[in-house]
Amino acid sequence: MKRIAILTSGGDAPGMNAAVRAVTRKAIYEGMEVYGINYGYAGLVAGDIRKLDVSDVGDIIQRGGTVLYSARYPEFATEEGQLKGIEQLKKFGIEGLVVIGGDGSYHGALALTKHGYPTVGIPGTIDNDIPGTDYTIGFDTASNTVLEAVDKLRDTATSHVRTFIIEVMGRDAGDIALWAGVAAGADYIVIPEREFDIKEIAAKISKSRERGKRHCLIMVAEGVMSGQEFKDLLSQEGDFHERVSVLGHVVRGGAPSVRDRVLASKFGWKAVELLKEGKGGLCVGIRNEEIIASDIIDTLENQKHHPDLTLYTMNNEITF
Ligand code: ATP
Repeated sequence: MKRIAILTSGGDAPGMNAAVRAVTRKAIYEGMEVYGINYGYAGLVAGDIRKLDVSDVGDIIQRGGTVLYSARYPEFATEEGQLKGIEQLKKFGIEGLVVIGGDGSYHGALALTKHGYPTVGIPGTIDNDIPGTDYTIGFDTASNTVLEAVDKLRDTATSHVRTFIIEVMGRDAGDIALWAGVAAGADYIVIPEREFDIKEIAAKISKSRERGKRHCLIMVAEGVMSGQEFKDLLSQEGDFHERVSVLGHVVRGGAPSVRDRVLASKFGWKAVELLKEGKGGLCVGIRNEEIIASDIIDTLENQKHHPDLTLYTMNNEITF
């Protein structure tokens, strides 16, 4: 392959720029030409495509968000949209595409693959909810941002003897709540992958109060319910001086962590290695610290993301 393109799609995630940089630089190193597509699939269909040079991706490795911008473009779920996208790629003489994004973006890459267009997916979402990889780009940074916020909330919780209910992003996955919760020493972590018993949680808070514990931190993944809904449930069991904190979009931004920058660089590098060999229809991932490539159709149709639930069990046994 001599000419490839790259786009970022869906929700932005810290580290996407590091992946854009790695794809661009590695491709140029291999003697290929690289095109950047603005605004994800919307820009692809509209032909918002420009050539990227070495310096176009300079000074971006440290930045959050995506310099290629991102967009939600539901029209790409139609065959008409997909064929228009392929037409644009062919018009520019582009032979392969790298898609960085989450689950929805992967479905776009899957559609292109089914039309026979060589595409490689890179998992980029803070939610960590993509099959075919242990970690996605942005998850580590987002978890660290949540951790920093929860550490601060703990100060107030302790000073005022409060129960903080912290609602965090993650769509239908509990990974951010789980990892940040364990790291923050949260008393309870409520995630979609495990049922919870509100009476048990209330009893746990009462017991810890009895032994003199002043703070209580409860992480609630947005995929379960809102923080306010959880508060309403808990307050039916007693007065725990609850306060709700919704961290929201602040968790999506910021400079990527070391881990996300390195992971993104590895993924970008690997994606180009694959396209260089003419291999498409794949998605890259990390499994037991090894960078892998899997069939994108099999990954999306037959595999499921599972968070590390040993963290959940462990947290219940070390926090009381
Ligand atoms: P995040 O998980 O961070 O929100 P995402 O990639 O899952 O990221 P979506 O909005 O679900 O975000 O999807 C991004 C884009 O991918 C959509 O706007 C659309 O252009 C494309 N897309 C989503 N689903 C499909 C599908 N079934 N077929 C083709 N394209 C799709």
